[in-house]
Amino acid sequence: MGKNFFLIAMLISSMFLGQNKNNPTDKIRLIQKAGSARSLEGKALQVNIFISLDKNKTWSRKGKEQVLQILPESETWLKRELGLYGHTMDIRNKNFGIDRDIILKSNPDVDAKDYGWPNEAIKQMGYNSLIDFYDDLKSKNDFDQMYIVFFINGQGQPYANPCDISFKEGDEDDSFVEYAAIFSSFDEVPITDKSQHYLVPHEILHLFGALDLYESEHQTKKTEEFAVDHLTESVMLGSIRFVEEDSQQWNLKKYKIDEFNAYIMRLHNNYKSWYDTLSKKLARTYD
Ligand SMILES: [Zn+2]
Repeated sequence: MGKNFFLIAMLISSMFLGQNKNNPTDKIRLIQKAGSARSLEGKALQVNIFISLDKNKTWSRKGKEQVLQILPESETWLKRELGLYGHTMDIRNKNFGIDRDIILKSNPDVDAKDYGWPNEAIKQMGYNSLIDFYDDLKSKNDFDQMYIVFFINGQGQPYANPCDISFKEGDEDDSFVEYAAIFSSFDEVPITDKSQHYLVPHEILHLFGALDLYESEHQTKKTEEFAVDHLTESVMLGSIRFVEEDSQQWNLKKYKIDEFNAYIMRLHNNYKSWYDTLSKKLARTYD
């Protein structure tokens, strides 16, 4: 019996050793390659949808225009960063909710966990579901990547809803169409303020697989510290580097796509073993 136990233990441990050959970073690279925004290349369609939460406090025309004016900077920055890795992507914008207000009953705040709100918005635009909207856009436009950026009139923490590899055919309504939710202000600072211009590209990069580098579902406090030391200029660190100091926040221009996230998003293939430090926490949730 002792001998059998030993053999089984050997067998089990060799199974685990076999699994470990795949490092956490390459695993995350695979996990993030799903949904309507797969990789940073080809033709992308960015769909901007303006949403209000209260019929007495809707977006003003000027407010919408001011948001649309910050988008070219985000696009220029993204193209510059892709260019550094020898990549190009065309981005076309389509805007909705400009002439007619879309007013939600459901709550898009990340803490409300009210996942039905994008479908409520899409229904007001005359579609049955996100995938119905996607199919209609696909039949009329030529694109390789598509994602939605909801601009919500209100205070809130911006977030992204990327699709991962657990997505299956038939789940389309829930997770295939990738979107970001960006509120008109965050911590009392309007998104049109220069210090907040990094938010739009930060959230868009999540849709293409980028991981947060601050303490979150992607990082521990320890790996955040590692990222602050090693990838100081990364746009995926968000504003963490400014929290404890009174230092002036950066303009978007100063930010970078860090080499770790560039690898995750398949902008380069030069794997380094320290990348595993930053991918471990998320990889564990897929074990
Ligand atoms: Zn983030």
